[in-house]
Amino acid sequence: MTQKLKTKNKNSIIEINKTCSVCGKYMRILMEGDKILSGGHYFGEVKVPIPDKGEYVATGYNKDLGCKVCKWLGEEIEMEYWECEECFKKGEEDELGE
Ligand SMILES: [Zn+2]
Repeated sequence: MTQKLKTKNKNSIIEINKTCSVCGKYMRILMEGDKILSGGHYFGEVKVPIPDKGEYVATGYNKDLGCKVCKWLGEEIEMEYWECEECFKKGEEDELGE
């Protein structure tokens, strides 16, 4: 037996549904294997504090930024961070400046 078992069909295109983490828009993402073909942009998983499940505590002062440094002490949820085409474009424009 030389034939390998096919565990994943890399050539099949699947559609998944996500919501934009910025504006909450419903997105239809087309993926081929683990590559996103269209529909949105994925930035990985982020930890987000759960309101009412902890508090921010000042841990110091950042002289460079001139502001207090706070740390979240409490529960967090891990969520996937997605942006729709519009929010992604907006982000790019913001980075380039006015
Ligand atoms: Zn959006």
